[in-house]
Amino acid sequence: MIPVMEPCGPPQLVIVGRPNVGKSTLFNRITRSRRSIVGDEPGITRDRICMPAEWQEKTFEVTDTGGMAFTDEQGMPALVSEQAQAAILTADHIIFVVDGRNELTAADWELSRLLHKSNHGVSLAVNKCDNPRLDAQHLGFFDLGFKVVVAISAEHDRGIEDLLQSATKHFPDQSELAKEKQSRDLRISILGHPNVGKSTLLNRITATGHAIVSDIPGTTRDAVDATKVREGERFVFIDTAGIRRKGKTHEMTEKLSIVMTQRHLRMSDVSLLLVDPREGVTAQDAHIAGYIHEAGKACIVVANKWDLSQQSQGEFRRHVRDQLKFMDYAPVAFISALTGERVDSLFPLIKKCGKAAKQRIPTSVLNRFLAELDMDRVTVPGHRKPKLSYVTQVSTAPPSFLFFCNKEGPFHFGLTRYLTNQLRAKFGFQGTPIIVRSRKQQRSRRT
Ligand code: GDP
Ligand code: GDP
Repeated sequence: MIPVMEPCGPPQLVIVGRPNVGKSTLFNRITRSRRSIVGDEPGITRDRICMPAEWQEKTFEVTDTGGMAFTDEQGMPALVSEQAQAAILTADHIIFVVDGRNELTAADWELSRLLHKSNHGVSLAVNKCDNPRLDAQHLGFFDLGFKVVVAISAEHDRGIEDLLQSATKHFPDQSELAKEKQSRDLRISILGHPNVGKSTLLNRITATGHAIVSDIPGTTRDAVDATKVREGERFVFIDTAGIRRKGKTHEMTEKLSIVMTQRHLRMSDVSLLLVDPREGVTAQDAHIAGYIHEAGKACIVVANKWDLSQQSQGEFRRHVRDQLKFMDYAPVAFISALTGERVDSLFPLIKKCGKAAKQRIPTSVLNRFLAELDMDRVTVPGHRKPKLSYVTQVSTAPPSFLFFCNKEGPFHFGLTRYLTNQLRAKFGFQGTPIIVRSRKQQRSRRT
């Protein structure tokens, strides 16, 4: 494949190792976070398993596979192979942690074998070398066959710099990532449960016209973006390898597919949530929709396989609204990825939603809008209604509005809904969530 300058989101550093070697402690150390659960029973679910991190000029994301709730019930071989699978699917570089104060176990050897087989860059971290006297112990671990072996103490902050130096060596620095951010390409993720038609849609999109499928430089993972150029606009479908790859590996665990979904979301401007009209919106679909909404990303609900549907569009649209009440802003598109019918209609819609997410309303226009609001139409039970004095848009993607008022605390739900609806009625914002916040206005002090 031809390498092009299109890094696909922040590089991924993935930590693997059998339970209790110190993965979670190392994760906290690298991300400078303090998650509640460290050192409890092995295999326990951690609250956050993927977080952003920085090291010198590099920004990247760290995943702790120990947090993926692979329990001991599965038995050690299954646990190890799932960890390895997770790492191989998502990682640009892998940190393999072993316990420097104990002998290597069968699980360490098995994980090592799987990692060697994958040809990924691996740094072996020999943990719990708490003082210089213990450093020599790491020499014994060269037997595992990795070129980079670093003695560290995650708990006492020893050797972490050397480890990160090696682990992030091939990651692009900030200036390259900044270039990517400035790019005006629209980045799109295709999401949905297995068999809903994601790879068929992707093939349909990339099979026609000018589609460039490109390697991602600076990474060893086979992440692939597919760029579609249409009427001079570039639509980048992100990490499509994740979609195409599925046939080659066994089914992903649910936890892993959540990690992949969230990763794709972070990288995208607009998400296509594919649903199957014959099944309707399932609980799994609603779950994915929840992630999209929480990530603040624009979304289009795509009813795929419309060629097999007997319902009317209006009927199905009502069903979607009913099942995804929190996402009433998402347009519904009706396509058949298999026949190609109306697939083209997705592009203007993607453009519209991407633009809406980045729309910025001037403060003067917003305050005229505020002056015209009919606050008598809002009922706020049991509360005195706040007086709104001023509004400004504080960010885009998602568009977020800060209303200044005379009361402390968040707005009542009814008022938030009223303001959200009015903002939509006036300014559009099709496809994107919007955020409404309140702040008590400080009285200006006379000096
Ligand atoms: P995980 O199951 O691999 O995520 O391991 P944890 O991070 O939960 O750590 C397991 C145990 O090892 C905990 O009791 C930690 O406090 C301890 N531990 C982690 N890193 C170090 C270290 O560098 N030195 C020592 N002595 N103990 C450590
Ligand atoms: P994925 O798991 O979401 O990537 O789903 P696939 O793209 O592999 O599709 C699963 C099955 O649904 C395949 O047999 C496809 O041929 C079929 N399929 C996908 N899109 C359509 C469609 O629009 N209409 C019909 N009738 N079948 C489709």
